[in-house]
Amino acid sequence: MARRKKIYEGKAKVLYEGPEPGTFVQYFKDDATAFNAEKKAIIEGKGVLNNRLSEFFMTGLTAIGVPTHFIKRLNMREQLIRQVEIIPLEVVVRNVAAGSISKRLGIAEGTPLPRPIIEFYYKDDDLGDPIVSEEHILAFGWATHQDLDDMVALAVRVNDFMSGLLLGVGIKLVDFKIEIGRLWDNDFMRLVVADEISPDSCRLWDIKTGNKLDKDVFRQDLGDLADAYTEVAKRLGVMPTNAAQMTKPTLIN
Ligand code: UDP
Repeated sequence: MARRKKIYEGKAKVLYEGPEPGTFVQYFKDDATAFNAEKKAIIEGKGVLNNRLSEFFMTGLTAIGVPTHFIKRLNMREQLIRQVEIIPLEVVVRNVAAGSISKRLGIAEGTPLPRPIIEFYYKDDDLGDPIVSEEHILAFGWATHQDLDDMVALAVRVNDFMSGLLLGVGIKLVDFKIEIGRLWDNDFMRLVVADEISPDSCRLWDIKTGNKLDKDVFRQDLGDLADAYTEVAKRLGVMPTNAAQMTKPTLIN
């Protein structure tokens, strides 16, 4: 096969040029990083799981009318996506206090929040993705007023959809991060959900046991990350078999 042009390599994914103009191929790696890449590991099968889970969430969002960059799955680790111009902000939605909000504001992890809280972080690894206000976003031109309104509306819809879907399989959506991109259709621009939605970018707690089923398992050394993601995929009916066992061909005697 002809070598594809690599467009960008991130911590967990690689973007390649797509088969048609305006498309990219998004490849999910097994690399796990945390604490701004200070902690690193290869988790066999993670890329396969995230490719399927992100497809599942994005397809569901499309079905309820929330636009996304997703076009179709190509194989175990790759999906075809629309090329978008990523807005340099991470949009975080929180339902329950955990992680940085617990530290920053001294709210015990697990405290339900009075209403979903939306936060913006400026995407810059060198700065450690600092939290920013709407004032910063508007003053520095990262997004317009209209973009901000649209981003909040998208984030709320994603939160409601994902919360309901996960509640149905006994999982609490504590918080998540999305990235949003501009999709151009001639002169018309709309915002769509981009990047990925997976347990790498969500906090997911088992409702009965409180067990963590997301990247905190890796951040806090709580067990096998691929097992946690497989559990999420199984409950959602996304992947009936263990993905970690499907990543390599096995010799049959
Ligand atoms: N998150 C993410 N990428 C980042 C930062 C955060 O996907 O670069 C996700 C994280 O997994 C969690 C949510 O956004 O689901 C809120 O993260 P938080 O601000 O609590 O930061 P953390 O504790 O992950 O440093």
